[in-house]
Amino acid sequence: MDIATRLLEGDVRALARAIRLVEDRDPAAEEVIRGVRGRAGAAHVVGVTGPPGSGKSTVCDQLITRWRKAGHRVGVIAVDPSSPFSGGAILGDRVRMQRHTGDDGVYIRSMAARGHLGGLASAAREAIRLIDASGRDRCLLETVGVGQSELEVMQTVDTTVVVTTPVSGDSVQILKAGILEIADIFVVNKADVPGADKVARELRDLVRQTKGTSDWKPPVVQTSATSGAGVDELLDAIERHHVAIAASGELERRRRERLQAEIEAIVVERAADRARRELEEGTMGSELSGDLRGVDPYAIADRILNANTGGAH
Ligand code: GDP
Repeated sequence: MDIATRLLEGDVRALARAIRLVEDRDPAAEEVIRGVRGRAGAAHVVGVTGPPGSGKSTVCDQLITRWRKAGHRVGVIAVDPSSPFSGGAILGDRVRMQRHTGDDGVYIRSMAARGHLGGLASAAREAIRLIDASGRDRCLLETVGVGQSELEVMQTVDTTVVVTTPVSGDSVQILKAGILEIADIFVVNKADVPGADKVARELRDLVRQTKGTSDWKPPVVQTSATSGAGVDELLDAIERHHVAIAASGELERRRRERLQAEIEAIVVERAADRARRELEEGTMGSELSGDLRGVDPYAIADRILNANTGGAH
């Protein structure tokens, strides 16, 4: 049986293999993705982001436990844009989620930047589609940090949860990174630590002052992930957000945008591949020999894009 068929039947090893193909930009990934087309789209994808040490893994662990109790099957992608390692290397840091490793209803996978075109965001998007197709109806995408790559990765989810804490002025740091715009839900974790109320108040004021385009106003939930306090409220906010965006058409709009971004990324990747081939091995390469001062890069780029496509009407 091929990988796609096995994956659709819920085979975890086929899922792992498929995600590896995606991550490696292996040409075989395309066939697998095509093979599962139409079978994904049922999962609610939840992104969890925030500074290192804010308690994201602990929060995720609590969400996983509750989802499992409610009978959901769960997939988790832990993304680390700064690390060149993957496939388990950073899972070592994710000990707080590891108690689920014996449960085949929970699939946890690390993913790291490999420097490929299209980036981590598109690899994560494809991995989530595969997890979704394998019959998991709840997906978590956890990122480390709050930089630009994290923002991109978060554009691939339905509901974005931003975790902050009363410790060391995290909330200010988050605002600087422009994360306010993408947050659907704020979590003030470590609510057992002094100062949580103040951070929550500040965030609520900020949400109030921000003119959003949608009707959804991000709630601010206080949790203490180590004890589990407040996690039910968080779960409730996550479910409410999903219902709200499904009803308003926002979910469909986000999914359309995501598909558009995905197609754009594929075009960019294929065009760059073609340019490299043409310039290194093809006839276009001769343009770059001799006197370079007269070379018109725009004209060459247009010729490469229009060559042999059958589409240059
Ligand atoms: P991550 O780097 O954001 O994934 O953070 P972790 O989940 O690894 O948590 C970092 C540290 O904070 C760990 O030592 C946790 O035990 C601790 N931690 C997580 N949640 C809480 C909490 O609600 N209260 C307190 N006091 N500590 C917490």
